Amino acid sequence: MSASIRLVTTYVYDFAEGNKDLKDLLGGKGANLAEMTNLGLPVPPGFTISTEACKAYLAQGTVPTELAEEVTEHLGRLEQAMGRRLGDPEDPLLVSVRSGAKFSMPGMMETVLNIGLNDASVAGLAARGGNERFAWDSYRRLLQMFGATVLHIDSEHFSDALDAAKQAKGTAADLDLDVEDLRALVGTYKKIIVHHAAREFPQDPREQLDLAVKAVFDSWNGERAVLYRRSERIPEDLGTAVNVQAMVFGNQGVSSGSGVAFTRDPASGESGVYGDYLQNAQGEDVVAGIRNTMSLQELEGVDKTSYDGLLHIMSALEDHYADMCDIEFTIERGKLWMLQTRVGKRTPEAAFRIAHHMVDDGLIDDNEAVLRVTGGQLAQLMFPRFDEAAERRLIARGMNASPGAAVGKVVFDSDTAVEWSDRGEEVILVRKETNPDDLRGMMVSRGVLTSRGGKTSHAAVVARGMGRTCVCGADDLDVDVKTRQFRIRGGGVVHEGDLISIDGSTGEVFDGAVPVADSHVVRYFEGEAFADDDLVDSVAAIMGRADGVRRLQVRANADNPEDAARARRFGAQGIGLCRTEHMFLGDRRELVEHLIVAEDEPAQAKALDALLPLQRQDFVEILEAMDGLPVTIRLIDPPLHEFLPDMTELSVKVAIEDAHGKHDMRQIRLLDAVKRLHEMNPMLGLRGVRLGIVIPGLFEMQARAILEAAARRLRAGGDPHPEIMIPLVASIRELNVVKEHIIEVAKKIQEREGVEIPFKIGTMIELPRAAMTAGQIAEAAEFFSFGTNDLTQMTWGFSRDDVEASFFSEYLDAGIFPVSPFESLDTEGVGALVRKASEDGRATRPELHLGVCGEHGGDPDSIHFFNAVGLDYVSCSPFRVPVARLEAARATLEQSS
Ligand code: ADP
Ligand code: MG
Ligand code: MG
Repeated sequence: MSASIRLVTTYVYDFAEGNKDLKDLLGGKGANLAEMTNLGLPVPPGFTISTEACKAYLAQGTVPTELAEEVTEHLGRLEQAMGRRLGDPEDPLLVSVRSGAKFSMPGMMETVLNIGLNDASVAGLAARGGNERFAWDSYRRLLQMFGATVLHIDSEHFSDALDAAKQAKGTAADLDLDVEDLRALVGTYKKIIVHHAAREFPQDPREQLDLAVKAVFDSWNGERAVLYRRSERIPEDLGTAVNVQAMVFGNQGVSSGSGVAFTRDPASGESGVYGDYLQNAQGEDVVAGIRNTMSLQELEGVDKTSYDGLLHIMSALEDHYADMCDIEFTIERGKLWMLQTRVGKRTPEAAFRIAHHMVDDGLIDDNEAVLRVTGGQLAQLMFPRFDEAAERRLIARGMNASPGAAVGKVVFDSDTAVEWSDRGEEVILVRKETNPDDLRGMMVSRGVLTSRGGKTSHAAVVARGMGRTCVCGADDLDVDVKTRQFRIRGGGVVHEGDLISIDGSTGEVFDGAVPVADSHVVRYFEGEAFADDDLVDSVAAIMGRADGVRRLQVRANADNPEDAARARRFGAQGIGLCRTEHMFLGDRRELVEHLIVAEDEPAQAKALDALLPLQRQDFVEILEAMDGLPVTIRLIDPPLHEFLPDMTELSVKVAIEDAHGKHDMRQIRLLDAVKRLHEMNPMLGLRGVRLGIVIPGLFEMQARAILEAAARRLRAGGDPHPEIMIPLVASIRELNVVKEHIIEVAKKIQEREGVEIPFKIGTMIELPRAAMTAGQIAEAAEFFSFGTNDLTQMTWGFSRDDVEASFFSEYLDAGIFPVSPFESLDTEGVGALVRKASEDGRATRPELHLGVCGEHGGDPDSIHFFNAVGLDYVSCSPFRVPVARLEAARATLEQSS
């Protein structure tokens, strides 16, 4: 490369100039094409138009002039290297235009092959290859892809025309179409283009190229791409790169072909190469599932030299990337070409097994293995599986494309899937094969079932990426979308709305709803031993390492001894949130009613006395289950009317009785209480610490139950560590009032029982005022627990129950939230309060213990934030505890790397 002709703004890079770490600039595909080029692998030459160019184009709405100049310059060099000119009528250079963003977005963006062909150069190509059929086949493919992706013509128009041509010929195979048929088809395709795009197919090769590049840029903002990014939480502003690459041809007869391969099995993680190959085909045929592919192993018998070369390259790539790679390749008349590689997508099971095996293989270390898996993947491994002991009727078998056990009602298209799932139904999307238009339907379905295509088909790849259960290629099924049913070879019909069950780990399809059972991974966490289960071994090894490196502790939210015990088996280091209001439900409701309708203090005291022994027993059991570990118990939090009957119902009842001359005093007093406690905004009403202040004895009773329970545990030789937590505190003065009472209670109990109870008093930080005055509050609190659910509501000023259904989807669509702030902590706003309160609290009291309870405690992204802020622990539901342990470790490792 001569430096003198380098332009100031660089939008375009030759493959030889890049490397795998430049994904931001070159996109994943471009960066890896560059890496392979520099490794000396056989990659057709080309250049990459950077994401910067895309961003500039999207910002300005036009192609920057420098870009056009740089493309001309690089194209010139490519032409020189290849000894051919783009679209030269005698001997044309043809190129592919391939999108490639930083994160792979399968099937999302657009790719156009055979650019440079036109009415004249098609003859040149035929002459060069000595194969007229191949030239016309390439031309009709260009028209088809260009028409669909650049000119946005419904691809069905083209496939219908192709089907018609085959039908006229009396064949089902593309390959039976001869030169004349293909020439005629090209004519038909051109008419389709004129008809639907109101323009001629551009004969000028450079115009073809420029339009294709622009189409790739535009597709970044296409509906499908936006939807996929949102579901995968990929940022909106990255832009895509575009790769322009000299074509090699897999459609030059039986000594040519295209394939995809993985260096390990992406479904199970098993070692050994694995892939699909299609003879006499260009690459898009392989994934489209148009013809049945052969397995990679079969290629050995067809073309041993290429097969050996490919295996050699695959093993080199795996060593080089130190990870499982997936690969796209083409063989052109016996010569192997590498067209793509990347670190391959894999199922959760494969992720754990591969990471573990790679440590054994010496390719990565233990810490890297922890970074190679995610909490989300672990959560998927904890999903239930079909109960093997249950009765079930197998109706078909396909490929195990993406694991999981899914039960749902059959639907045949995306719209129905969305509609039914919106009204709360679980659905399974059944298609012959899927295409990018099915994405919305796949996202809302429990599982996806197709009758065609292999493990690398669109359905399989996308389902794996989304963690959706998928069985593909179940060819015993005859799917008829029009009549909304599928017929099963060997008898039987399943209609839309019928229940089926699909097992993505085995590829089985069952009639009806098969019951599900716990996964091995869950049973392992529960303490069961497995003699010979590689997945369990892999999970165990990685979790062991994770626990060794993480700084954040993980506690569980648990309100009863069973959950506490389970949480402990799952690795919880205490309870971060024990809600006491659940202990007021069921047959204790009546006691709470007594408390509420009590007319004077003695009556109130009597009601509280009745509750005391019940509460105390709850706490004894929970403290026992968590012996030796901290148990944070939150005093009663919700508004009391939640324990009372509904106002309207009760009013009606009393009115009816009244009309019949009956006067049930209990009901009347109850109605009075309900009316008295009725609030316009219960969320902002009489709840939390406010209850403790206005209802004499309530918090004292709870504190007494907790401390007496602890005293009993001590006397029984136990090691209780209760932590009394006051909810909804806004001001240190509230905390001081209730704290004084609790300390008095504690003194009395300790004197009476003659024991020293190790307990703490702390508060939740869940109101903005508490966060802003945390420095003061820390004077009275020994610990803070961030109640991020309420803190989110109070900071944004909306109540979750009201807003999630009413306008969240609009907010997500408009990009106001990248993700619901109840799902993943809003680090900018709510997170800023958490950070400030932590800093101010610790400034007052350096040993202040900091934790978080609420759903965010089990959310991977939020955990990384809490780790960075320096909290001591997160608390989440028992089932999420392993997920949080893993993510806490990943957060530590990421922070230190
Ligand atoms: P995707 O991102 O959807 O996989 P690609 O850009 O990888 O799209 O293109 C799809 C397929 O097109 C490739 O797998 C390959 O088979 C074929 N292809 C792309 N570029 C070329 C090329 N220069 N020569 C031959 N085939 C190509
Ligand atoms: Mg590809
Ligand atoms: Mg709260």
